[in-house]
Amino acid sequence: MPESDLNLLIEKTRAAFLGVALGDALGATTEFLMPGEIRQRHKVHRRIIGGGWLNLKPGQVTDDTQMSLCIARAVDQAGGWNLQGVAEQFALWLKSKPVDVGATCRRGISDYIVKGQLVKPYSDWDAGNGAVMRMAPVALLTLGDETLLERLALEQARLTHHNNLSDAACLTIGRMAQQALLGAGRPQLHALTRELCEQFPKFRFNHYHGGASAYVVETLQTVFHYFFTTAEFEECLVGVVNQGGDADTTGAIAGLLAGAYYGPEALPPRWLKKLDPAVKEEITTLAERLVRLSPLGRRLTRSNNSCAGVVRRPAAES
Ligand code: MN
Ligand code: MN
Repeated sequence: MPESDLNLLIEKTRAAFLGVALGDALGATTEFLMPGEIRQRHKVHRRIIGGGWLNLKPGQVTDDTQMSLCIARAVDQAGGWNLQGVAEQFALWLKSKPVDVGATCRRGISDYIVKGQLVKPYSDWDAGNGAVMRMAPVALLTLGDETLLERLALEQARLTHHNNLSDAACLTIGRMAQQALLGAGRPQLHALTRELCEQFPKFRFNHYHGGASAYVVETLQTVFHYFFTTAEFEECLVGVVNQGGDADTTGAIAGLLAGAYYGPEALPPRWLKKLDPAVKEEITTLAERLVRLSPLGRRLTRSNNSCAGVVRRPAAES
């Protein structure tokens, strides 16, 4: 792969991570509303205007993006994976009194602060979407190594959520995001959802019933339904957030997949203009760092540097 392909990959991973923030900021407006209420207020909600039950500023993001950034920061600081570093970033974030924290996440982080616990005990009650909503940084960091993706996806998840459905959702979303980044088409991505549904038939979404709660099964059904029935980044995100429910989180996960799949040109400029500039800048920087630390990023950097014995550019910072 020539160097231009590494740059292209970096651009696509930025789009995927920015997609998380755009979906979060767009969906926060309609979080916990019913589709009928959304129609009454907005006809179709498709502008980043803030508000919602958290009364956000336009472009402000919530826990979905913030926890993803916590993971990315921990990796950046350590120059690689460090689970305790991730837990520390979550703890710092919780102590900063964020506008929105899920109950399961709060409990997991508190257990780390009090007892140093890095793996939650298994619980039937942990089938919420709080672990899968922050999969973007792990998908980027483990590009080029599926076994590593599996290990790190579950490690990050179980800081707060330890449940079969949550675990399976994290693995599937991580794999779909990676394959989309590497150029997979819809059939390949759909095959990954079928694997998930074979293992846990609850996730089937071919007769979508419209439930979009924080239950990870409904969250993924909503994301999958709109991802596979729309043909653009914007329409996919507009579809999920107008379904209401946990709209910022379905928006964030749909944004990850659609950003990875459709790429940077597909992100609506008027949405990017509204997004909190500090968030936009940090994502842009950290997405590149994560890719360069990934097994694929390292291979691409090495092959660029060893071209005919001529060092064409300095080694990537670590
Ligand atoms: Mn949120
Ligand atoms: Mn949410």
